[in-house]
Amino acid sequence: MEFQKRGLPHAYVLVILKHKSKLLTPEAYDRMVCVELPDRNKNPYLFNLVVKHMMHGPCGSLNPKNVCMRNGKCKNYYEDFSDFTTHGKGSYPIYRRQNDGHMVMVRGHLVDNRWVIPYNPVLLVEFDCHFNVEICCDIRVMKYLYKYVYKGHDKIAFQITPEREGQGNDEIRNFQTARWVSPVEVVWRLYGFPLNGMYPSVIQLPIHLPNFHRIRFDDAADIETISQDDKFKKTMLIEFFHMNSID
Ligand SMILES: [Zn+2]
Repeated sequence: MEFQKRGLPHAYVLVILKHKSKLLTPEAYDRMVCVELPDRNKNPYLFNLVVKHMMHGPCGSLNPKNVCMRNGKCKNYYEDFSDFTTHGKGSYPIYRRQNDGHMVMVRGHLVDNRWVIPYNPVLLVEFDCHFNVEICCDIRVMKYLYKYVYKGHDKIAFQITPEREGQGNDEIRNFQTARWVSPVEVVWRLYGFPLNGMYPSVIQLPIHLPNFHRIRFDDAADIETISQDDKFKKTMLIEFFHMNSID
C-alpha cells in the first residue's frame, strides 16, 4: 500500500498465476489487458469509465506543464500507436494500440488511444476506480513492484518562516526534513489496515544437517539433561519435515 503526498492509497498487487494459467503469448495478453478506447456507442458504460479513470495526461506538447513532465518529457508515460501486441524489452509488453480514429476530450484536450493507461474491462467495471493492469513478463517489472514494500516512508523538506524577516540565514532551519504522513495514511494506520501481505506466506527455515542444529541453553545447565530434553530436539526445519510426513 503506497501513500503519495495527496490523494487516496495506491495498492500494488502482483498475482502469480499457476503454470497452466500463465499468459505467455501476445494473444493471451490481449485477452487480459486493453489500452484502447471502447466503442462509445456499443459500450457506453465502459467508455465512460475509461475516460474517467484510465486516461493519462494530457502532457507533452498538448500540456507541457502537467505534473508528470520532467525536462520537457513525460516521466512515466507516452506510447505510440501499435497494430499488434509485442513483448517489451525489460519492460511491460507493448500493447495493441490501434489508430482507429476514436477520440475523446480529456481535461480540455482531444486525445486518442495513445493516452489510454492499460486496463482490464471486467476489473474496471467491478471497481469503478483507477485500475492499471499490466502483464509482468520481465523480472525487472516484478522487482519494481516489490520496491513499494521496502522503500520506507515519504519524507518532506520544510521551513518555518517567522512573520518578521531579518533574523539572518539559519541553514539548519532551511534544511529541516521530516516524515510526511498524509491524512489518508493517518486514517489507514489508525484503523490498523494492512500495509503489505503475501499469500501463501514465505518463511525462511533454518537449514541444518541432522543433529547439527543450533540450541541455546544456560551455561550452568547440565549437558546430559539438555541432550535428553525433547524441546532442544525440535527446530522449525525438523517440524516442517514432520508436518509433511503426517499431513
Ligand atoms: Zn505524462
